[in-house]
Amino acid sequence: MTDLTFADFGLAQPIAEALARAKFEKPTAIQAQAIKPQLEGRDILGLAQTGTGKTAAFALPILHHILAMPGRAAPGTARALILAPTRELAVQILDEFRRFAGGARVSTCLVLGGVSRNVQIRNLGRGVDVLVATPGRLLDLVDDRKVRLDEVRFVVLDEADRMLDMGFVQPVRRIVSMLHPRRQSAMFSATMPSEVSGLAGSFLNNPVRVEVAPQSTVVTKIEQTAELLDGTAKRARLAELMGGTGVERAIVFARTKRGADRVAQNLEKDGIKAEAIHGNKAQNARQRALNNFRHGTVKVLVATDIAARGIDVPGITHVINYDLPDEPENYVHRIGRTARNGADGIAITLCAPDEVKKMRAVEKITGERLLAGGIPDGESKPRGNRRGGGGGKPGGGAAKQGRPNRRRRGPSRANAA
Ligand code: ADP
Ligand code: MG
Repeated sequence: MTDLTFADFGLAQPIAEALARAKFEKPTAIQAQAIKPQLEGRDILGLAQTGTGKTAAFALPILHHILAMPGRAAPGTARALILAPTRELAVQILDEFRRFAGGARVSTCLVLGGVSRNVQIRNLGRGVDVLVATPGRLLDLVDDRKVRLDEVRFVVLDEADRMLDMGFVQPVRRIVSMLHPRRQSAMFSATMPSEVSGLAGSFLNNPVRVEVAPQSTVVTKIEQTAELLDGTAKRARLAELMGGTGVERAIVFARTKRGADRVAQNLEKDGIKAEAIHGNKAQNARQRALNNFRHGTVKVLVATDIAARGIDVPGITHVINYDLPDEPENYVHRIGRTARNGADGIAITLCAPDEVKKMRAVEKITGERLLAGGIPDGESKPRGNRRGGGGGKPGGGAAKQGRPNRRRRGPSRANAA
């Protein structure tokens, strides 16, 4: 697609070395488009799904600029601010900054709710080059005068759509209003609802718009399949799938909170350890469920779309859509939970006849035909024409799936089941 290499950007030496150590050779599509304009001082509006490499797309140019700045950050100020919707994302972003800073002296600070303020306050007191924060706690500390934001010259709103979905519109606007007037700004979002473009309009200054085409956004390492089956057959099919050998960690998506509870209960009855997380659960119950999932004591987490926004657990091998999402965009968010860090992932959608319309809406967005259509004649259909699935290794992933014989169920097979 592009012959560009990271060397073509002329990034500062410590960054170039860190990239080599990280074995980053070629920029991803979003990186290829977004890095150069930011090195030249332009604002960026980036439209790209999860797994497209957005973090490096903003972290590399920011680090490059910061390394060129003389002196150190003044006490109680930050030079770059990255806002993220969830704690997990903030942690990941900070890790990437540290990794790409390599041996260079770049001070960083993580500001998140739910943990002690003291360390955060101490770090901010010294002044930091790169501050990664979730909006709520950051505003607390600003209001308590632990940090000023008027020296922020580089700002990124990561996953802006999720941030606004989570009710951070006002906090984000307040934070943005405090930044240095001559700053470089970037905003990344998987989708562009009017609220996001409204924010972009006021926040960005003549931005370069970079976009990754939907077809290439769904990470190729995710093997996606869909099965048509009766709503009543879903419970048994899910238990069968989750009992398979390759399932290490799975997220099952349900449409409603009650549905999520019911699916988790049924899994338990069917002998598979599962927990549900959704907005009706107390924060500490959610955290406990997440910890159990992260530590592997529970291998299946059943979540609603909203609840899943806070989850960024590595090593998720399977994403199951027990219900189709109401918003087709959420399909992409959902399956983006797997196949992180270059690992393979499997996404299976269980589609009831009355959900076929929603399935077609998903297919429109992903550009992939996932559910065999038309005549219910599964036996004569070629099976195993999976989508995605890492190009060069046909057959890979079957064992992992714990369902060796069929990749995709045709409609007749499902009806017969
Ligand atoms: P996003 O923020 O778009 O979801 P990330 O920035 O988290 O994506 O990147 C997804 C994964 O891909 C990460 O593990 C990251 O280290 C890796 N990655 C990103 N860019 C490259 C690249 N150019 N070469 C190799 N791996 C990359
Ligand atoms: Mg990201």
